[in-house]
Amino acid sequence: MNNKLYGNLIFELSHPGRKGYSLPKSRFGHYEIPSGLKREADAELPECDEMTVVRHYTNLSENNFGVDNGFYPLGSCTMKYNPGINEEIASLPDFVNLHPLQPAETCQGALEAYYELQQALAEISGLSEFTLNPCAGAHGELTGLMTIRSYHKSRGDEKRTKVIIPDSAHGTNPASAAVCGLEVVEVKSTPEGLVDVEDLKPLLGDDIAAMMMTNPNTLGLFEKEIPEIAQLVHGCGGLMYYDGANLNPMLGACRPGDMGFDVMHINLHKTFSTPHGGGGPGSGPVGVRKGLEEFLPKPRVIKDKDGKFVIENNLEEYDIHQNHIGAFLGNFNVELKALAYILTLGRENIKLVGPLSTLNANYIKEVLKDAYELPIPSLCKHEFVFNGLKDKSTGVTTMDVAKRLLDYGYHAPTIYFPLLFHESLMIEPTENESKDTIDKFCDVMHKIAREATEDPECVKSAPHHTPISRADDVLAAKNPIVTYKQLVNDKD
Ligand SMILES: *Cc1c(COP(=O)(O)O)cnc(C)c1O
Repeated sequence: MNNKLYGNLIFELSHPGRKGYSLPKSRFGHYEIPSGLKREADAELPECDEMTVVRHYTNLSENNFGVDNGFYPLGSCTMKYNPGINEEIASLPDFVNLHPLQPAETCQGALEAYYELQQALAEISGLSEFTLNPCAGAHGELTGLMTIRSYHKSRGDEKRTKVIIPDSAHGTNPASAAVCGLEVVEVKSTPEGLVDVEDLKPLLGDDIAAMMMTNPNTLGLFEKEIPEIAQLVHGCGGLMYYDGANLNPMLGACRPGDMGFDVMHINLHKTFSTPHGGGGPGSGPVGVRKGLEEFLPKPRVIKDKDGKFVIENNLEEYDIHQNHIGAFLGNFNVELKALAYILTLGRENIKLVGPLSTLNANYIKEVLKDAYELPIPSLCKHEFVFNGLKDKSTGVTTMDVAKRLLDYGYHAPTIYFPLLFHESLMIEPTENESKDTIDKFCDVMHKIAREATEDPECVKSAPHHTPISRADDVLAAKNPIVTYKQLVNDKD
């Protein structure tokens, strides 16, 4: 057993009068704070010596799992390597110390970087223009749907209130449509996991604002019928929306704009690297095809005829409020990281992202399909889904496999999503992983499958080597304990 004080809060290590700091004498003399601004009682801060503080937080930080300390095959959320150079560039003082209201003449370099990213995304996706404002994928979806709504409204076509969304879609798609005041119509998948064109046809009509598609879809499959689907949706006057949260497998292979899509978002924090565990910060730029530029909310950065970069704004003209699209120019530091990533790879290497992420996913799928149930055996793109262990007689579930992986030092894949299968285990290796890493992961997955047969109890009670075992996630979500006081009160 180690001697780390796991589970102790810094408050519990506190002793009255112990100090881990010393403040220098003020250079400005002594000023009494007006009594009206002073707190009535002392803040209840922990009192600890310096070593206790350092060890406490260092030990806590070592409980974190991230892409920098282990393989993180989380399907759909794309946890890939985030090169340190991105952080360095985004932390340059000239970027960090910018003020959002600074005159454009004084921050030409930053605006140029912003402009470059707008252009790069347009080229990569085959669309005409991008706004970098939205701060997440879901935020991008809402912005994109509002753009579509503005387009229909401008034509006096206000009866279009419905959005078609496949049953395999990410949960944010129907949520964004609902927030936008649109009604969701679900289209079914075929047994092969693709949008069922026959099921789609009767849904089409003059009340359809758009169809949202994810490609590759959430099963990691390429939607082969896109040309026909786009033709059908456009035929009834609707627009095609592309959920490009995970664009990895498309890079270098094809472009949404060339497939007939009108509007899309990209998650910079998935496709173009940026640490995004724990909820952010993110960035979900939205692009539109030629002809829809005027409906895309601004601000955006343009280059004037003298080669100067200026911020163009038009919000007041549209039905979209600034609050809906994020403050100022969005999450600028994420945008810088994405640009650094794109420029580091360069035009040639970016073309390898799609093929490599696809190769890695298919390799794992083929190596493990003897032990795990593969409901859809066809070629996948960057990710794929198992439906739990092949041998169902042991009672070992996907949850158990995920927990056991923690014992072996791996972050679990995405589990119980998509909802199309009962025991979904969704694996995405990304393009950055070496064959050695992937082989070791496959060995562990095979080992767990053997354990499930030989010693099912061991897997069902995993994890055994983590600071805590299975948390009650329902209780944690419904009744989160986020302050020390709350913890003490709850104990009483
Ligand atoms: C992650 C994801 C989203 C949502 O992105 P957020 O940044 O989490 O809001 C939408 N669609 C798909 C397919 C995703 O994988």
